Amino acid sequence: SDYAALGLRPELQRAAADLGYTAPTPIQAAAIPVALQGRDLRGMAQTGSGKTAAFALPLLQRWHEGPRHRSRRALHSLVLVPTRELATQVAEHIAQLAVHLPERPKVVRAIGGVSINPQLMALRGGADIVVGTPGRVLDLADHNALRLQECALLVLDEADRLLDLGFADELDQILDALPAQRQNLLFSATFAPRTAQLADALLKDPVAVQG
Ligand code: AMP
Repeated sequence: SDYAALGLRPELQRAAADLGYTAPTPIQAAAIPVALQGRDLRGMAQTGSGKTAAFALPLLQRWHEGPRHRSRRALHSLVLVPTRELATQVAEHIAQLAVHLPERPKVVRAIGGVSINPQLMALRGGADIVVGTPGRVLDLADHNALRLQECALLVLDEADRLLDLGFADELDQILDALPAQRQNLLFSATFAPRTAQLADALLKDPVAVQG
């Protein structure tokens, strides 16, 4: 398939086919090879462009190919999104795309506006991938339920909306707690000065793509 040409594993190609994706969207074609290489990425993409799979597919492949800690699940990827609804959609999308992998990642949502206790329970024994809103992610880190220090991959989805919704301080605190050595994928529909500034501060030698 065209997804094979982008460097994706057969299990991930099959999952995309299961969802009826016959060909990669432009943002997927541009972003997936870059993200698979471990490069930082600055993606300009609207909702509806297929941007979720553009980061979820390479994220799953990087997780699959990364080192495994059998005794405990260390956080591999953190996906920050502006809203609860988006967190739910993204977490479900990641889980759907992971179905054919020989080992499935544990994906946990970390979202505000609901009780923290079920999320504390869900994080017992760790998680491979956390999808959440910045405030709750920080809360869970403060409760020592989430160790950000080992996270290998950070995704900021809808970075412009994260800033519009007033998450700049929380983002800074999360960035401080993450290891310096990591991959960063930033997606935004717009790159007004504040978003561009965040991208410049966050991304190391990024490849800019558009969808
Ligand atoms: P997103 O921009 O990630 O919110 O995706 C918008 C919609 O496009 C979702 O319903 C996806 O399931 C769908 N989608 C993503 N990639 C493809 C593709 N390659 N072909 C067809 N539909 C897709």
